[in-house]
Parts: sequence; C-alpha cells; structure tokens
Amino acid sequence: MASPGPMSRSRLRLAAVYLLVIGVILYGAGLGMFGLLMRSNWSALEREVETLAGTLHDSLKPLLPLEARPSTQLAAVLPGLCLVGDPCPLPPSLVPRHAVSITDPERFYLRLLDPRGVLIAHSPGSPTTKAERPGPAWSMVAGPGGERFLQYSIHLHRSHTPARAGADPTELNWGYLQIGRSLRGLDAERERLWWTTQTIVVLALLVAGLASWWLSGLAMGPLLAAYRQQEQFTADAAHELRAPLANLLAVVEAHKSQLSADPMAGEQTLAVVYKQGQRLSRLITDLLLLARLEGPEAAAARQPCSLAQIVRDLLEETSEAASIAEVRLRLQGGDDNLNVLGVELELYRLVSNLLLNAIHYTLPGGEVVLSLRRDGSHGLLEVQDSGIGITAADQQRIFDRFFRSDPGRSRQQGGTGLGLSIVAAIVRRHRGAITVRSDGHSGSRFTVTLPLEASSQGLSASR
Ligand code: ADP
Repeated sequence: MASPGPMSRSRLRLAAVYLLVIGVILYGAGLGMFGLLMRSNWSALEREVETLAGTLHDSLKPLLPLEARPSTQLAAVLPGLCLVGDPCPLPPSLVPRHAVSITDPERFYLRLLDPRGVLIAHSPGSPTTKAERPGPAWSMVAGPGGERFLQYSIHLHRSHTPARAGADPTELNWGYLQIGRSLRGLDAERERLWWTTQTIVVLALLVAGLASWWLSGLAMGPLLAAYRQQEQFTADAAHELRAPLANLLAVVEAHKSQLSADPMAGEQTLAVVYKQGQRLSRLITDLLLLARLEGPEAAAARQPCSLAQIVRDLLEETSEAASIAEVRLRLQGGDDNLNVLGVELELYRLVSNLLLNAIHYTLPGGEVVLSLRRDGSHGLLEVQDSGIGITAADQQRIFDRFFRSDPGRSRQQGGTGLGLSIVAAIVRRHRGAITVRSDGHSGSRFTVTLPLEASSQGLSASR
C-alpha cells in the first residue's frame, strides 16, 4: 500500500488539531452543563427539605408535651413515629398535612432528639443511632442499607404560656427535629445525566471528527493546488533545462571527434554552443525573475511611472524586430497623464513581452496595434494583433508556466514559455488585471488594466 503523501499527512494533522480543540470545548461545555444541572437539582432538594422542616416545626410547636422523652403524650402527638424502646409498626400517617411526602419511608425519615441529642422517637426505617450531638444544619448520613441521606437538623421549640396573667407566651427549647431525605433519586439522576452527557459528547465528537476532516480538506485545497503547481513547475523547469543542455553536450561530443578531421567545423559548433548557452541563460533569468516576482515586494521600489512613456520607448525598441518580421506597428491614444505607481523595469517587461509576442505570432504583412487610454481610475493598455490567434482552450492555459500552443514555433522564436507567466505576475504585483480575447484563428487582443497613481486619478476627476 502506498504511504500517504506529505499533503495527506498535513490534512490528517490539521483534522486532528481541529478535533482536539473542538473536543476540549465540547467536553468542557458538557461537564459544565452537567455540573449546573446537578447544582440546581441539589438546590431544589435542599429547598424541599428546608420547607418541610419549617412547616413540621410550626405544626408540632403547640402540640409538644412538656418533656422531651419517649412518652404516651408524645406518641399521641405523632402517631406514626416509633418511640425509642417500643416496637416500630409502619405508620398510616405522621402529621396529616404532610402525609403524602413525609410518611414515604422510601424518601424521608424523621427523628426527634432531646436537647442533649439523645434520640427519643423516629420514623420507621430511619437510622437509629443511640446518642449523638446534632451536628451542623446539613449533614450526610448513611441509612440502614448503605443508602445516602441528606439530613437537616433544626431546634424544636414548644409554645409556653406563663402562669402570670397578661404575660406574653414564650418559646422553650424542646429538642431537635431531624429530617433525612434519601439521595437515591438524585444519585440515579446524576448517573443518568452523566451517561447522557458522555453519549452526547461522544456522538458530537464523531460528527466533529467528520466535520474536521471535511474542513481540513477545504483548508488544504488551495495549498494542495499550489503544491501540485509547484511540483509541475519543477518537473517542467527540469525538462526545459535538460533540452538545451543535452543539445549542448551532444554538439561538444560530436565536435571532439570531428575537430581533427575538419577544422572549419569548430566555428559552427561554437555558434550552436553559444545559441544553446544563450537559451539556457534566458531561461534561468526568466525563472529567477518569476521567483522574485512571486516573493515579497519592497514598497520602496515603487515610483510613479508614465505608461505613455514606456509604450513609446518600447514601440521604438521593437520597431526593428517588427520590420524584420514584416509586421506594422501602430499606437492609438497614449495619454501622457496616465501614471502608475509601480516598478518601472517590471512595467517595461510587461509591455515588451506582450508586444514581442504579438510580433512573433503575427504573419508577415500583419499589423500590431497598441492602444493606451484612461478607464475611470485605471489605465487601459491593449495589444491587438492580426496574428495566428489563440484557441478558446489555450486561452485558459497561456498564463501557465511553460505552456505553449506550438512548442516548436515558440522555441524557434527564442521563447522560454515563461513570458505570459511573467506578465501575469507583474500585473498581479501592480494590482491590475489581464484578459485575452481571440476567435481562435485571426488575431488576439490582450487587455491590461492598471490602477493609476492618486495624482493621475485627481487629474481625471478635475477634467
Ligand atoms: P513563449 O515564450 O512561448 O512566447 P509565452 O508565455 O509568452 O511563452 O506565451 C505562451 C504561449 O501563448 C505561446 O507559446 C503561444 O502559444 C501563445 N501566445 C502568446 N501570445 C500570443 C499571441 N499574441 N498570439 C498567439 N499566440 C500567443
């Protein structure tokens, strides 16, 4: 099985990092939610027990016997409660008003203690610890079957009417009331919530895993395309460099064997070697320029450049090549105020590449028209030729490095196949745009728009 390439490994790593981050957030949120729900359940339980204890206390206060000890009066007040030392039947009810909740031995227990903390009565099924000091208001108690109870202790008071007539009734400290609430329901709820949270988090992580893989694919898409382009470029560059080198070596090899037989052959060989050497040098210069154009740019290198000046200079420079190719050159427009903030050498290269291509790909007798005009805040440069044209399919690819519609013709003209890639890179650097139009057989038109320098834009606005 083929091992995954560096891009697949990077995608996997990216997806894993996404998943880790999402996982930590999900798990944190899940645990937070779980904690909040448990906290609110616990508060509801405490409120329930507190309310019950307060109501019971108020109901019992006027009915309590004088002394806090197991007695028949106490048994009469709380018929459902078992006195310490007596057998303990199941109660029909404890205090009628709270019968439903408080007599449910599954959920609650009730204990009465004297002021020293000695147990005097309790509901059936409650813990029956002999003597104890009632601790803090809230405590955790283990029930008979190891079940956990939340216990709430409060002072029990008894209403006392003094013998002296007219005196206010007072409250005497009678003992303690303890209410225990079973935590079985809460524990079961915690268990249920815990497993629900875990399941939701695991399912969410599975979905997040798939989403991470998809997202990392999206993020890696442009990188993958650039990586493939780079791979293709390296292969093409190696191929382009190999061809002239192989020619050069073959010629030198042949020359070595012929040198003694024909001294005249030396001159021809040198001419071929020189031509191939020049081709190699052009190729390497273009490759270096392209690499520089795609690297970071020094803003200081920019200066106002007159497009009209550049166009006129290049028309003059290429006029000789045009007359050799028997192609007419013509300029239309040429507004002197079209200034671009850019790198002059690069702008020269841009126009010269387009112009030379137009001359090279136009048959003798044809014409190349260069036009320059303003289009709003942009300068618009058009190079129109009456040459061989470019098919619709090739128009999509001519800006790719080393692409040539006709490799033989291009090489014969001395082209490196990098001319239009360099043009596109320069246009990008100057924040412009380039388009090509051709019906595929009779002529092509390259249109470049470049944003003008602020002062040139002002000139247009003031007109
Ligand atoms: P080259 O060095 O081959 O000219 P370029 O990058 O400048 O490389 O051009 C790429 C290809 O685009 C050329 O090989 C040619 O096929 C096509 N091309 C460029 N300009 C023109 C034009 N004006 N007319 C027709 N074809 C053109």
